[in-house]
Amino acid sequence: MTASIIDGKKIAQHIQSTTAERVSQLKEKGITPGLAVILVGNNQASRTYVSMKRKACEKIGMHSVLIELADDTTEEGLINKVNELNEDNTIHGILVQLPLPSQIDEINIIESIDPNKDVDGFHPINVGRLMTGGEAFYPCTPYGIIEMLKYEQVELRGKHAVVVGRSNIVGKPMGQLLLKEDATVTYCHSRTADLAYHTKQADIIIAAVGIRNLITADHIKDGAVIIDVGMNRDDEGKLCGDVDYQNCLPKAGAITPVPGGVGPMTITMLLANTAESAERTLTRKTQS
Ligand code: NDP
Repeated sequence: MTASIIDGKKIAQHIQSTTAERVSQLKEKGITPGLAVILVGNNQASRTYVSMKRKACEKIGMHSVLIELADDTTEEGLINKVNELNEDNTIHGILVQLPLPSQIDEINIIESIDPNKDVDGFHPINVGRLMTGGEAFYPCTPYGIIEMLKYEQVELRGKHAVVVGRSNIVGKPMGQLLLKEDATVTYCHSRTADLAYHTKQADIIIAAVGIRNLITADHIKDGAVIIDVGMNRDDEGKLCGDVDYQNCLPKAGAITPVPGGVGPMTITMLLANTAESAERTLTRKTQS
């Protein structure tokens, strides 16, 4: 048996073209969805991510604004900028690119974003609503993974999903989203005793750690669906995930490659969340 390879690029393109249709419908109603990205300092990786996000926005007809602030920007200065965008009716999504310089507390910044424009889904209101229900934005990477699993028609109800990693941006919300889909969820992390004991029982494994080849063929059961979130570099500097892809391929039921798996889904769901935010303003207008 060889696993089917889940093509993240293809799924991302499909969702992006649906989002582009939503954008053109919104434009017909007089609203152009707008995403503002704030970049503080000169981190090269952040600059690359921001530029990819802006290009993706423009490609599907969204309005995009980049606000670049100096490395020595104060927390107050950044909050003032966020407040301006909170009040700006042409902006439906606000994203502050992380990490931030050390003089700025990330939590304070995330909490200053209007939850209705928090398209990253990191604000405590959105995190809370992910757990309790209600109108929320979901963090883009785990949201993209759920969409990917649905596109591939992977049954989640009643299945055992093991999430390796418990960060606020990937692991924790991933588990909650799987729970919403009626999966039985186990979280593993750096203090988990006997990782393989847990992963071997999984119908679905989500590896979100940042350690190359952490998940080997000995960690998985036959036919498991393996989603690799990790972004690491191999000895030659090539991008690779957390999963020993070549050795898991013959054993897994389905698997995401790195690159070309989860990666393209993250920006895609940022666009979908921004379109969603613009659609919600329209609903709020008709309700008031
Ligand atoms: P974090 O570093 O914030 O979290 C890593 C998690 O892995 C922690 O919960 C940690 O546990 C856990 N962990 C560390 N070592 C082990 C171990 N030996 N066994 C089991 N669990 C372990 O990373 P992120 O969640 O932000 O990102 C994870 C990976 O996903 C990274 O490679 C990142 O680059 C990538 N990523 C990819 C994205 C994409 O779009 N494709 C988007 C976001 C991230 P503990 O909590 O105990 O420390």
